[in-house]
Amino acid sequence: MGELWARGSRRAEKTGRPVGQTEDEPTVSGAIGDEKGSLVSSDARRDGRLVFERLKEEVIGPGLCTHCGTCVGLSNGALEMKLTPWGPIPAAASPGGPGGPGGADVSPAAYLACPGRGLNYPELCTSVFGEQPNSWLFGCYRGLYVGYSCVPSIRRGGASGGVITQIVVYLLESGLVDGAIVVRQGWPTAWQAEPVIARSADEVLGGSQSVYVPVPVNVILRELSCMDGRFAYVGLPDQVASLRRLQQLGNPSARKIEYVLGPYVGTSVYVAALESYLRSNGISSLEEVTELRYREGEWPGYLQVKTRSGQVLRAAKFYYNYLIPFYITRSSLLSVDFTNELSDISVGDAWHPRFEKQRDGFSAVIVRSEKGEDVLSSMQAKGLLSLEEITRDEALSMHGHMLDFKKRGSFIRIGWLAAMGKPVPDYGYRPSAIPVTRKMIEVVIAGLFWLCATRPARRLVELLPLSMVGPLFEVLRRIWKRATKPGKRKGLGSAAFDVYGGRADGR
Ligand SMILES: Cc1cc2nc3c(=O)[nH]c(=O)nc-3n(C[C@H](O)[C@H](O)[C@H](O)COP(=O)(O)OP(=O)(O)OC[C@H]3O[C@@H](n4cnc5c(N)ncnc54)[C@H](O)[C@@H]3O)c2cc1C
Ligand code: SF4
Repeated sequence: MGELWARGSRRAEKTGRPVGQTEDEPTVSGAIGDEKGSLVSSDARRDGRLVFERLKEEVIGPGLCTHCGTCVGLSNGALEMKLTPWGPIPAAASPGGPGGPGGADVSPAAYLACPGRGLNYPELCTSVFGEQPNSWLFGCYRGLYVGYSCVPSIRRGGASGGVITQIVVYLLESGLVDGAIVVRQGWPTAWQAEPVIARSADEVLGGSQSVYVPVPVNVILRELSCMDGRFAYVGLPDQVASLRRLQQLGNPSARKIEYVLGPYVGTSVYVAALESYLRSNGISSLEEVTELRYREGEWPGYLQVKTRSGQVLRAAKFYYNYLIPFYITRSSLLSVDFTNELSDISVGDAWHPRFEKQRDGFSAVIVRSEKGEDVLSSMQAKGLLSLEEITRDEALSMHGHMLDFKKRGSFIRIGWLAAMGKPVPDYGYRPSAIPVTRKMIEVVIAGLFWLCATRPARRLVELLPLSMVGPLFEVLRRIWKRATKPGKRKGLGSAAFDVYGGRADGR
């Protein structure tokens, strides 16, 4: 998959046009297929309205691509992910590729399951769990826990409590699956990461910890199509939503996946964040990196970069978070799913002073499906996982800020874009009302993100030493959180949401 990550075209940077889009690209409109995803109408084909053309027009061009990799995974090699300054973006693998004269097309299911357009959460929830969410903040759930792997090396090697890795190892070793899709950091080069189908515990362990730049996991669907067996899958919320839509559409590769796991996702950053961090340490190129780990060492861990010259750079997690406002991905700003609501089991950091003090690695765990519950019970009985049940209010207190960022912030941001006539993702539900004070906070957040993303601001932050900017950022972050807490948390726990065509209870 090396070429997928080939440092992509700089053209977009120069022209302002997204990669893969040409100046004279036709305007595309009209239906692309029926909701079963089985057909592209002959009209569409005649008019050249091929699947990839529509994705370029409606998703990639407007900057809505979440980098999930689904369209590439369903393109039979006609597309590949190209690394651009705005993350990996699908592009034709060859000049005669999709959209080109006589070029091959991509499966219509790719359009229907593209999370960049937004996927209908209420519908998917019913299709996966057989009911509407009991919480529009957390999604459908059967239990909320704080826990960790009881195997010390797995707990220590994980991003938080090693829970995801431990579950995947258990699924493999107990024969419940034949393989597991995880992300392996360090491939094809030290600073990159790619999805792999792990067949052994060692391979799963090699995929532990978080990768904070986008990794297009769903490109793996192509490899999966040639394999028999049942699989576990670890993916981010948009990737999971896309996978669930494909399962709903009857896609054969997606249907091989028996267990869906995933981390909570607040924000991710473009690779340029890493380049900036390297430059601020006097390292000019990513090619100098020989090893990269985002959550090394004692929880919450530190970013660790080893270089050819033998340097070892380390930045505590809360310090390197200063990069987020400068390099946050657009999809982080438009996603409304923080806790990976369509997975069987989802896992985040258990941010609570009680656990943070211990520094041993604690995960917040949400189990959503019956089979997820069975797995957790068996693992507990075998002494592989320690789990302590928590209340919804405790779960909310751990992640209130990020839940607000998604469940109100993203909807405000989407509303602003829609008001400007821009294409936006549609998730099939929205908050019934957002207080004016909360909207005003969003104006400040948007202003800060805009300012931080400017060239002078990015340059300036590089010139400041981490020993100064890290603690400064952490202090400012705490002050900001304290100051905005009343506005951001007020009414969050009881917020009501409208499912289009009906009203849903916020709890
Ligand atoms: C981009 C990102 C943002 C996050 N933001 C938050 C947050 O705001 N708040 C919070 O509480 N938690 C967040 N998390 C989750 C947190 O970092 C841990 O992943 C989570 O606590 C699980 O820890 P663990 O020890 O159980 O996982 P581990 O046992 O370390 O396993 C992690 C699993 O996730 C997979 N994985 C890692 N990165 C990616 C990726 N980029 N794409 C697909 N799969 C991946 C790995 O392959 C591995 O299987 C985020 C994670 C990511 C990847
Ligand atoms: S969001 Fe996923 S499916 Fe949609 S264009 Fe991007 S990579 Fe393709």
